[in-house]
Amino acid sequence: TTLVSMSVSGLTDLWADFMRASGSAERVFDLLDRKPGMPISGGERIDPLQGHVEFQSVRFAYPTRLDAPVLKDLNLAIQPGEVVAIVGPSGAGKSTIAGLLARMYDPQGGSLLLDGRDLRTVDPEWLRQQIGVVAQEPMLFSGSIFDNIRYGRLDATEAEVEAAARAANAHDFVCRFPDGYRTSVGERGVQLSGGQKQRVAIARAILKDPRLLVLDEATSALDAESEHLVKDALERLMRGRTTLIIAHRLSTVLGADRVLVLEGGQVVQSGSHASLMEQEGLYRRLVERQFAAA
Ligand code: ADP
Ligand code: MG
Repeated sequence: TTLVSMSVSGLTDLWADFMRASGSAERVFDLLDRKPGMPISGGERIDPLQGHVEFQSVRFAYPTRLDAPVLKDLNLAIQPGEVVAIVGPSGAGKSTIAGLLARMYDPQGGSLLLDGRDLRTVDPEWLRQQIGVVAQEPMLFSGSIFDNIRYGRLDATEAEVEAAARAANAHDFVCRFPDGYRTSVGERGVQLSGGQKQRVAIARAILKDPRLLVLDEATSALDAESEHLVKDALERLMRGRTTLIIAHRLSTVLGADRVLVLEGGQVVQSGSHASLMEQEGLYRRLVERQFAAA
């Protein structure tokens, strides 16, 4: 069963994470509907990938809701290694930006560029290997903790898996299970807490070592201890990678190089936390509410 779940997961893991993060299981089926139109492989592999991301006048509506555009003339550029936080009200299109970057959908207008190349010319399978995702509620497949971490890079050795788990602050809790890394998770295994699942997902991403990182932060699901351990692990993971964080916490925004404020499908404000706080506008209102509805 592990093999079966892994190949299913292999088709959908990144997407499933997004779907789960945006809270709707039905969206997985949107994805499956979409699949036939999208080539599974073929196209350019950028080598070496620097990780420069640009959205140029991107216009996007979901195929099922073409009358309701989600992104309208969206422009943004992220430098290699830059950490950009996206904030904005619920439904503003934050997860959609992440989904487009992973090429879950193509825009109806404008283009997405990776190191200056149109994403549509890039090999999608390769692209998926370059993007690490840590979703709000990571999906683990049925199997051992070891397999779930090693999924980040299937040829990783046992020592590499353990090193990734240590860097993700997961090693200690894993060792507290009688079966350690062989502990089964998923339907017939142990239930991990939200913070534990996230640390497994972080370990997976560390092992994958992607140039591009997408984080959809967890909110209230984490207890204070987990939050500290997750935050620490994420900071280590982000170092040196182009990182897009859908930020729910003020502390993250403070650590980002730049904050983009999204509203109505467009970037309405952009700058450092301090500069945005000096302006009257959506950002200050969101901070006052502590991103409560993000
Ligand atoms: P955010 O992450 O900022 O809360 P999303 O990007 O998830 O916002 O969603 C933006 C808009 O797109 C919302 O109105 C949402 O209902 C809609 N939406 C998101 N996913 C889908 C989908 N798969 N099909 C149709 N509409 C969607
Ligand atoms: Mg979202």
